[in-house]
Formats: sequence, structure tokens, C-alpha cells
Amino acid sequence: MARTLGPVCKRCRREGVKLFLKGARCESDKCPFARAGESRRDGRSAVLPPGMHGAKRGKMTEYGEQLREKQKVKTFYGVLEAQFRKYYQMAERSKGNTGQVLMSLLERRLDNVVYRLGFGVSRAQARQLISHGHICVNGRRLDVASYLVRPGDVVSVKVYKREGGKAKKPGSLAIVNEAIAGMNGRAVPDFLVRNDGDVPSGAVLRNPVYDDVSLPVNPQLIVELCSK
Ligand code: SF4
Repeated sequence: MARTLGPVCKRCRREGVKLFLKGARCESDKCPFARAGESRRDGRSAVLPPGMHGAKRGKMTEYGEQLREKQKVKTFYGVLEAQFRKYYQMAERSKGNTGQVLMSLLERRLDNVVYRLGFGVSRAQARQLISHGHICVNGRRLDVASYLVRPGDVVSVKVYKREGGKAKKPGSLAIVNEAIAGMNGRAVPDFLVRNDGDVPSGAVLRNPVYDDVSLPVNPQLIVELCSK
């Protein structure tokens, strides 16, 4: 699976907004945005766009604003350009506001749902849990992070049968329980409900709408860019 490697906090600084890419660190004082109020010795803000000329950049063009909005959404959900274009085409073919349908589609991704249920500390960890076979949808193991959930789907943690007194993969429940314990007040959105039993699970109550998206974004700018 293709993915973007390299410095992570730099990507938040580039977009000027917290994208919650690093799990617990994002809620701690170590996040550069937590220190945004402080000013450095040279008087500049602690959060600047990356690069040696980050502080000197002038006013953004209309195209620049559209591009940054698209890149922000791609980084937030961890999708690459080709996949993003597919979501855009799906949204374009659907009824309703294209930008809002696009955000709804991205919100329905299984890795996003696993993260928003609190089973992973970040979308990247949620994606790894899925691809390593730790997540079931409707009782069957599913290792496709881009699967789009539907109302009525039940997402749960895979429990491996014990063999000879030892669990084959004992880590998944511990990782998920630790992630749930560390949610730090991050609420489960209205379109999902979580059941904290011995084996945590969650159900999809309805399709997410634009208001369920936790990222401040103007999808109209993305539509203007992608429809060119
Ligand atoms: Fe880094 Fe997380 Fe803060 Fe983004 S939100 S800058 S990934 S610590």
C-alpha cells in the first residue's frame, strides 16, 4: 500500500491546522500548536509553515487556497491523489452537493471509522490494525482500510482462538483498550455508537454528513479545483 513517509508535524504546519497524525502526542504539550501562543526569542509565532522561507510567504493565490484545502483533506484522511480523485468522481456522480458528498465518503472509510470509535490513536494506527487483520466488519475479518461502511455495519476487534493455551496474536485487544482509555475526551461522533464490552465493537447508525467531519474545511474550494 502506497503511503507518504517523512516528517509528520511538518504536514500540519504546512496546512496551518492540527491534523492529528501522531496519536497521543497531538494532545500533549509537545504538539507545536500547543505552543502556538508562545512567541520565540525572535518574536515569531511558534507555528510557521515549513521551510526556511516559511515565515516570508506572501498572500496566497486563489489556486493556492484551493490546492491547500485539497491537500489538507488528503493528509487528514491519509489518501493519495489517485484514490482521492476516485472519491471525487463518485461524489460527482451522486445526488446532492458534491463537496459535502465527498467529505461524507471519506468519513465512511473503515480506517476513519475505526479511529473515530477510538480503537486506534490515529488514523495511521487504525489502518495498520485493519491491514494486519485485527478488525472485523459484521463478524468477518476485513483488511481493506478503504472499505466504505454502511448503516447497520458492526465493526469489532478480531479475537483469535487460543492454541495450546497461548493466543496467536494477543496484542490487538490490548492495543485497542489502551487506545480507548487514552481518548482524552475525544467523543464518538453521532453517526456511530460504541459498545465497550469484553470485545469492543461499534455500529454505524447512519451515513455521516458534512457536519460530522471534525476537520475545519471548505469542500467548495476542492470542487472548484477538481472540476477544472
Ligand atoms: Fe504533530 Fe499531531 Fe500536532 Fe499535527 S497535531 S503538529 S501531527 S503533534
